[in-house]
Amino acid sequence: MYKVISCLSGRGAVLSGQSCCSRSSSAKLHLAGGAICQKSAFKHPNKDLPEMPPCKFSPEEYKGMSKERMMEIRKQNCNPMTMKVTYYKKPVFIHQGYMQWLWDVDGRRYLDLFAGVATVSVGHCHPKVTAAAKQQLDKLWHTTNIYVYPALHEYCEKLASYFPDPLKVIYLTNSGSEANDLAMLMARLHTGNFDIITFRGSYHGGSPQTMGLTSNAAYKYPVANGLGCTNTMCPDVFRGPWGGSHCRDSPVQTIRDCGCAPGHCMANVQYIEQFKETLATSVPNRIAAFFGEPIQGVGGAVQYPKNFLQDAYKLVRERGGVCIADEVQTGFGRTGNHFWGFEGHDVLPDMVTMAKGIGNGFPMGAVVTTPEIAASFCKGVHFNTFGGNPVACAIASSVLDTIREDGTQQNSLDVGTHLMAELAKLRDKYEIIGDVRGKGLQIGVEMVKDKASREPLPAVAMSEIFEDVKDMGVLIGKGGLYGQTFRIKPPMCITREDADFFLAVFDKSLHSYMERK
Ligand code: PMP
Repeated sequence: MYKVISCLSGRGAVLSGQSCCSRSSSAKLHLAGGAICQKSAFKHPNKDLPEMPPCKFSPEEYKGMSKERMMEIRKQNCNPMTMKVTYYKKPVFIHQGYMQWLWDVDGRRYLDLFAGVATVSVGHCHPKVTAAAKQQLDKLWHTTNIYVYPALHEYCEKLASYFPDPLKVIYLTNSGSEANDLAMLMARLHTGNFDIITFRGSYHGGSPQTMGLTSNAAYKYPVANGLGCTNTMCPDVFRGPWGGSHCRDSPVQTIRDCGCAPGHCMANVQYIEQFKETLATSVPNRIAAFFGEPIQGVGGAVQYPKNFLQDAYKLVRERGGVCIADEVQTGFGRTGNHFWGFEGHDVLPDMVTMAKGIGNGFPMGAVVTTPEIAASFCKGVHFNTFGGNPVACAIASSVLDTIREDGTQQNSLDVGTHLMAELAKLRDKYEIIGDVRGKGLQIGVEMVKDKASREPLPAVAMSEIFEDVKDMGVLIGKGGLYGQTFRIKPPMCITREDADFFLAVFDKSLHSYMERK
């Protein structure tokens, strides 16, 4: 008799990149839908590993090129940067995905808590979205907006319905950088001003123009860039000079003290003073725009004092600038309480840019703005061949329907709040967790040498924990200026059970790290 082992049902850990299947004998059991598991021979020596929640889906058997061959090609023919950015000493070779799960080429299952960098919004290969894509592929792959076709119009009307007035005009792009490039140009044309302000530590894109908005040395090249872009202090209430235990809109506050009277956040006052100083010293009297993410993504889920954006928007508008919310990571219900991150700050931007989750992994982006700003942009002809491609529109339209039908936003709130509350308990248990923050399923866990100094946990320690978490079957991300923050931004279909599995894995990896130290 064959016994199906843990590939489909359980145990997370497998040693040195080998799958549970590949460690067993060669006899194979083929399951419905193409899954392959082998006769049980291997038993992991560590019996205390957390149990991975079950998954009924069966991936196809992998028959592609070897891992070694892929790495050779990666070295010789791929953009060399791919070698630099490859996650893990023993990389993950991904073969297939389904909802919150990924399988590697050995048939090993992972809980994906990073979603291809906060991008797979409703779930890998979500059946409804996949069906919508297939239906459109059978009908029409491409035409462009010199013609009139339903997919574009259905989507623009639907996306506009998710915004309050006057944010009703949609420009479709193919990525977040492209959306932010476009927003920069539109802001400059509309206001007649040139200067744009962003927060330090932010990421708004890697194109030559958006590189100026992005404020993280790792993503900057030594070429003339950032003309007209000024980066100002990020009002980070954990790592910044000011912050206390009531400042932010999150189920978990910092462990810093707070002596402010209720409703009077002194950290906000101090950070706004810094913003005013930037306005007084580093830009002309009239500016074009201020870009801000509702919660910093690549920066490590950094949150600002509750009223900061409201006050900053006012100051920007007094100087003739427009306010732009970069919702590339925070949009589409990820923050839980609201569909858009800006709503959580009680502000109304003049422009909203988005990408990533918009297409559940299909390349797409958008700028949403007012008819007035759009009118200023009609001075020249703006054309984008693929922006509004019928397949992209059909997919994005189905993503919006799926978020509503699956209760994705509510799930983000419920599972995310649970996850953060439990992570806060781990913060209290381990000296090296400095901060837990975020909203919904946009979560950051900032690691420190110790709580008193708040010095970032060194890269070597970060990668040991990171690798260990992966070896136990969970993929998370890293970010922050010093690479010190673990980022949790999963497909928004994860369950409480998945969250608990991750918590057990994370606890175990931290415990092992502290024991080794
Ligand atoms: N804005 C934010 C907030 C992002 O996180 C990113 C990508 N990490 C971008 C813009 C750029 O998006 P893309 O990679 O699609 O160009």
